[in-house]
Amino acid sequence: MHCPYCAEEDLRPVEEPRGAWRCLDCTRVFVVRFVGLSHEGIAGARVAGAGVAGGEGATS
Ligand SMILES: [Zn+2]
Repeated sequence: MHCPYCAEEDLRPVEEPRGAWRCLDCTRVFVVRFVGLSHEGIAGARVAGAGVAGGEGATS
């Protein structure tokens, strides 16, 4: 994991606030929060698969 501010890898977990990390290089403390899953990649793959299926139907 890289520091989002200075891109250094010297990160250490901090007890307070919960889930926070401290960058030893720039001394910033930040929290990484999980928001959810993005389905953009899955939707794109589904569109590509439909295109392949349509091609097979046209040839047969
Ligand atoms: Zn940093």
